[in-house]
Amino acid sequence: MLDLPLAHVAHDRAAHRRSKPGLVDDLLAVRETRVLLVSSGRVAAAGHTPALLPAHEAVVGQGSEHYFLGEADDVAYLARPVPGVADGEPAALPAGLAWITPRDLADSGDPLATGLAVEAVALANWHDRAARCPRCGEPTQVAAAGWVRRCAGDDLEHYPRTDPAVIMSIVDDDDRLLLGRGPSWPPGSMSVLAGFVEPGESAEYAVAREAMEEAGVAVARIEYRASQPWPMPASLMLGFRAHAETTELRPDGDEVSELRWFTREELSAARADGSLRLSGRASIARSLIEEWFGGRIGD
Ligand SMILES: [Zn+2]
Repeated sequence: MLDLPLAHVAHDRAAHRRSKPGLVDDLLAVRETRVLLVSSGRVAAAGHTPALLPAHEAVVGQGSEHYFLGEADDVAYLARPVPGVADGEPAALPAGLAWITPRDLADSGDPLATGLAVEAVALANWHDRAARCPRCGEPTQVAAAGWVRRCAGDDLEHYPRTDPAVIMSIVDDDDRLLLGRGPSWPPGSMSVLAGFVEPGESAEYAVAREAMEEAGVAVARIEYRASQPWPMPASLMLGFRAHAETTELRPDGDEVSELRWFTREELSAARADGSLRLSGRASIARSLIEEWFGGRIGD
């Protein structure tokens, strides 16, 4: 099994409750209800653990919307989006709390808070980009406790979006792993290849297409491994393992500027001498690399 820090879900989304009229107001009146503050792709947290606050402590910044995230052990959870202040910076938080991104959740240590935070960020990111109807351009309004936006112009309902992307460990006949570096990444930072699934193609086809486009490598035996939400801003990462039929590397220069095959020994040595930086602990990229490596790779 892959260890996927952002894939934990310890709560019931209770989707059947979302359309109940007045649900959010009813829940805000319940003392046990807890609220997660979310702003500009971040959640309020104490250390690395998202803060699940009583409603009266979760009054920060402008705005009064809430989204229903679900429930666990008879406690309901809401997200409260806090509009950013200047330049996309999130609003100031009370003492003891700070804004963290989903990347920081690998160290959360609280599966319930982590699952709620990933859901809250993904949902809030969608709301941020769905203020107007893509069909007629009129403003949209929140409905169904945050799970629908309805167009004021033509009454069309819009639903939260998740964009599928593929990410794949590509391994050759000698059991070497292919890693690449994007042109804008710091020197030494490398990861497995990834790319968005395009309209009209399967995830497996996207794996083969991206491997050829980005690296010039033909792959076969494409096997699905696991998936993980990656709400930055709206991806669902579909993890695969693929076998390289060719090993000559041809970086496309656009999305990938450097490519290299690694044996486990070479990867260990590059980590030890500081010349290789891998994707963070929260990423499925790290999990795919460690699956090939055969164990956890230290930070
Ligand atoms: Zn419309």
